[in-house]
Amino acid sequence: MTRNAEVARVLKEIGLLLEFEGKEPFKVKAYQRAVRSIAALGEDVAVLAERRELTSIAGIGKGLAEVITSYLETGHVAVLDELRTRVPIRIMELDAIPGVGIKTIKLVYERLGVTNLDSLEKAANENKLSQLPGLGAKTQEQIIEGIQVARGGLSRTLLADALSIASDVEKQLRRLPVVRQFVIAGSMRRRKETIGDIDILVEATDSKLVMDTFVTLKEVSSISAHGETKSSVRLSGGIQVDLRVLPADSFGAGLQYFTGSIDHNVKLRAIAQKKGHRLNEYGLFRGEEKIAGKDESGIYRSLGMDTIPPELREDWGEIEAAQNGTLPTLIELKDIRGDLHSHTDQSDGKNTIDEMLDAAQAKRYEYYCVSDHTQSLTIANGMDEDRLLRRIDEIDELNASGRWKMKILKGAEVDILSDGSLDIKDEVLSQLDIVTASIHSRMKDDRKTMTERVCRALESKYVHILGHPTGRMLLKRTEFEIDLEAVFESAKKNNIVMELNAHPERLDLNASNLRAATKVGLRIAVNTDAHWTTELDHMQFGVYQARRGWLSRDDVINTYPLKKMMSTIRK
Ligand SMILES: [Zn+2]
Ligand SMILES: [Zn+2]
Repeated sequence: MTRNAEVARVLKEIGLLLEFEGKEPFKVKAYQRAVRSIAALGEDVAVLAERRELTSIAGIGKGLAEVITSYLETGHVAVLDELRTRVPIRIMELDAIPGVGIKTIKLVYERLGVTNLDSLEKAANENKLSQLPGLGAKTQEQIIEGIQVARGGLSRTLLADALSIASDVEKQLRRLPVVRQFVIAGSMRRRKETIGDIDILVEATDSKLVMDTFVTLKEVSSISAHGETKSSVRLSGGIQVDLRVLPADSFGAGLQYFTGSIDHNVKLRAIAQKKGHRLNEYGLFRGEEKIAGKDESGIYRSLGMDTIPPELREDWGEIEAAQNGTLPTLIELKDIRGDLHSHTDQSDGKNTIDEMLDAAQAKRYEYYCVSDHTQSLTIANGMDEDRLLRRIDEIDELNASGRWKMKILKGAEVDILSDGSLDIKDEVLSQLDIVTASIHSRMKDDRKTMTERVCRALESKYVHILGHPTGRMLLKRTEFEIDLEAVFESAKKNNIVMELNAHPERLDLNASNLRAATKVGLRIAVNTDAHWTTELDHMQFGVYQARRGWLSRDDVINTYPLKKMMSTIRK
């Protein structure tokens, strides 16, 4: 987890505000370049800042390094504060609308006084945008649609980013000796893929000290509540954080209550009522007597069921399973024995094969598959047959060298072409250990075309895994149109494994599709699709998502020992 996204956002805002002022085009370019290199950085910018090595990043000079350091150390940047005072508009909000750039933002500000999403929406609904030069009725329609997209993207944060922000808050509050317990509750504890706000529960011997410290954290940009037991703040990155201090004897009840989901809790309360009990955030009560509340498991036990892992609490059948003793034993990170989808600098990865293998070895993997892109993905420098054959020889040599204890598997992420054929010849594919087939082009194909295309690729004798099956990018791009039921059927027939791509922006398949896949008997590979060494850490997000999809170790092939894994995928 890194603070890269946060820092990139701050730099982006400065760049946009400078562009709005229109005075220093060179500076604007410098900020834009910096945003790109931070977003593509394989390391945590905060770690580089601590080591005073920010200027080693492409496009970051002394001035920008100072800006970043100031933000990381104080939560503020003087130049941004000044810009925000001079330019009184919420530029990040407006820029989040697809198709809206500085030119439009300037126009609507100067002509209509629009400063944020709400005032823009009002102007659009009053038909005022269509009257402006160069906009017109059609653009107005697109902007109205775009405002909804922007609202969705702005109001949610990727789980990975939210966890990183929360752990930063945790580090600072845990320094207080009065803090006894610190737990992140809410949808984050359930490991939902995107997060609205952060809910933190604390048990402490001095509630006031915790609250005073919390509202004065350096990252806080505004305080909406500051009480004895509850405070709410907004951080400079934009996310809201609620902190509650709970007494020890009802901490478990509060944790259960604030973890949710709402549907899960409604059903639990109904079960409590049927038993003549009462369940709330303070405990489980029989009359006036509290029969559980100190810990969560006590509450579930007293309601006659097993304790339900937070990732399952969606009212998707977990309560019934807990009552019947049939909850699945969910997969854990330590069950993972290897990673079957990764890249190197031979295609669009950032690290050499040796560096990737060292990083995989550090995870004590038993096997690791190198699977670079193939030729039709030219923007990713995909490999043609000759390069792939050389790569095969190279991996044979690396395995023979004995430098790595794990087995290095020969793989490729081949492209599914528009007609469903693959972009590498069978005679080369047949020499690979694991072939992942993915869609990277023509993602706007209609449902029928896309389904046929993918199903045809799965017919190949040499394909083992379908990579990121729905192509979505969280908060950015929706799933492509595809009949997954038909795809699952074809996969079943052809012994194809579904990928759960663990990249925090993908997490593809999603939880309900994972359940549907395993229900028809498919197996899953949880893969990082790492493009640099640090991305091997994304495996944890894949495992969170796998748990939300009710997967146990047996459902996931890269928990198997090498021999069993290879014989499972064999055609
Ligand atoms: Zn891919
Ligand atoms: Zn990939």
